[in-house]
Amino acid sequence: MTARRRRIACVGGGPAGLCTAIGARRAGVADEVVVVERDPAGVTHGWGVTFWDELLDALHRHDPPTERALRAAAVVWDGQVLQVDRRAPVFLGGSGYAVGRHALLALLADRARELGAEVRFDATAADVEDAVDGADVVVAGDGVASGLRRHHAERLGADVRESGHRYIWLGSPHPFTTFTFAFVGTSAGWVWCYGYVFGSDRSTVVVECAEATWRGLGLDTMPAAECLLTLERLFAHLLDGAPLWIAPTRRPPDGAPAPWVRFRRVDNRRWHDGRVVLAGDAAHTTHFSIGSGTTLALGDAMALTRRLAGVDLGCDASVERALAAYEAERRAVLRPLQAEADRSTAWFTGLTDGLGGRPDDLALGWSLARRCHDEPAWRWYLLRATQVPALRALRSSAESVRRQVRAQRRELAGSGRRS
Ligand SMILES: Cc1cc2nc3c(=O)[nH]c(=O)nc-3n(C[C@H](O)[C@H](O)[C@H](O)COP(=O)(O)OP(=O)(O)OC[C@H]3O[C@@H](n4cnc5c(N)ncnc54)[C@H](O)[C@@H]3O)c2cc1C
Repeated sequence: MTARRRRIACVGGGPAGLCTAIGARRAGVADEVVVVERDPAGVTHGWGVTFWDELLDALHRHDPPTERALRAAAVVWDGQVLQVDRRAPVFLGGSGYAVGRHALLALLADRARELGAEVRFDATAADVEDAVDGADVVVAGDGVASGLRRHHAERLGADVRESGHRYIWLGSPHPFTTFTFAFVGTSAGWVWCYGYVFGSDRSTVVVECAEATWRGLGLDTMPAAECLLTLERLFAHLLDGAPLWIAPTRRPPDGAPAPWVRFRRVDNRRWHDGRVVLAGDAAHTTHFSIGSGTTLALGDAMALTRRLAGVDLGCDASVERALAAYEAERRAVLRPLQAEADRSTAWFTGLTDGLGGRPDDLALGWSLARRCHDEPAWRWYLLRATQVPALRALRSSAESVRRQVRAQRRELAGSGRRS
């Protein structure tokens, strides 16, 4: 008698689902790995996402070709800046990477297919059912509004809390080569944006404000085109005349309001129910002000496939043990980041009250730099030094050298396991 072919089904072709497919194929977890994504190929919500060297290190250990492709598709943003209205900017230093979601998903899908996974875009509900039916493990990588999580709600016990702020994820051709936190005072309260470059001629601009400000400015009812013009005017001093765009998949019909939403903070009592396991945003979210949701989703996928490697998928107890170990490992990684994200969210919430009265933007910059975790006192002096152009350039050069050294170390460490 021939053994039954083993199958892993990933619902959702985001970072979590696609990276799980890569890991599962690499580790030979199952004979068949299928990803079902409801959107057509090349279509995605949102614009660019940030990440840091830690992700490249982890991907390099997991699958060097994926790390190389991501590094090639990414751009570096150099330093961070705080700008309150049109007052003098405060420079915060630091650096990181960003990549367009389109590019990220395309490189992950290509690699998954190269390794023998099936990636089905434009999947109908019937396609999803077909993939899930009889699968040995079903990975719910279907994002923040996960249907699978809802379906298994009783066991998983989701806790979803909506923020009191509204945000909209926009793109712009303006190159925000420095990660920009900009606050603009309006008659109805503060509106702020996070701007960062993610391609040669593309930046992400996430605009956020309190619900009362959003309604007070009429952004809740004004047609999307007028909303974009309003935001372009508010941030004109940063955009240099460049437009703001809504992602093609989120464009509303003519005359309808722009797609502002509330951030959803997701937690679950359990991450798996039988052979269904949550990964990425379906399992947890962290506020975008700390830019780590994609890194966490990819990290979940890497841990999950590592835990499933070598497991007899025919044995319920072995699968249960692997999924429990995955959940414990990833909860430990998630916990401090979720605490940072909560601190960051609280900082932005509290800020709206006190911003106007603060004459000292340097102190505000210091507070922004410490919004997620405490910083040693010497960093205050570093922040002050960073305001001097020559010292800022020096700090930027040091960051560049640090990135290069890290890349070399990665290459050296990985030279033994190249594939
Ligand atoms: C404004 C904003 C800015 C962000 N910036 C950053 C950042 O700078 N850095 C960072 O690391 N993270 C960032 N994030 C978070 C990041 O986008 C998410 O954490 C990440 O995309 C999660 O990956 P995922 O695969 O779990 O889910 P998703 O990327 O949401 O993918 C889920 C996929 O599942 C598909 N799907 C859903 N239901 C079904 C179904 N029934 N059948 C088939 N397919 C289905 C969806 O179409 C989607 O493609 C940001 C998020 C927001 C909202």
